[in-house]
Amino acid sequence: MKESSARKQGAASPCAACKLLRRRCAEDCIFAPYFPAEEPHKFASVHKVFGASNVNKMLQELPEHQRGDAVSSMVYEANARVRDPVYGCVGAISSLQQQIDALQTQLALAQAEVVHMRMRHYSSSPDCASPSTRGRRSHNHHPKSSFNIDDSFWP
Ligand SMILES: [Zn+2]
Repeated sequence: MKESSARKQGAASPCAACKLLRRRCAEDCIFAPYFPAEEPHKFASVHKVFGASNVNKMLQELPEHQRGDAVSSMVYEANARVRDPVYGCVGAISSLQQQIDALQTQLALAQAEVVHMRMRHYSSSPDCASPSTRGRRSHNHHPKSSFNIDDSFWP
């Protein structure tokens, strides 16, 4: 009696996976802890990209304490694949990698500019009697050389 009433309750509120697959959500349903009914989009995208039986297999191969992390990784990857069907996650990774490269180049240019300005400051200060002419001269020299190069990295 008790068992059947519990099962009836389970069947009344299936997890998001069982609801989408139109099957009865068993008490020991492998999807239920990770795909609650309130978040149907999570299973929908994972099912679309990996297929329910592959998700099932992957979860069964993992110890229970790793399943939560595996599910959030699969959900992330599936969403990335839905957004970008060609590159998926790799698209995000390579765009971030490009940003790192561009920023590192920018940083190197800025550091070179700092060294350059320091050297000019030390070499020009003894010959210049008036500080106002020195200030004007360095203004005319540096802005274009550095900022034009930096701008070319940004669309
Ligand atoms: Zn279920």
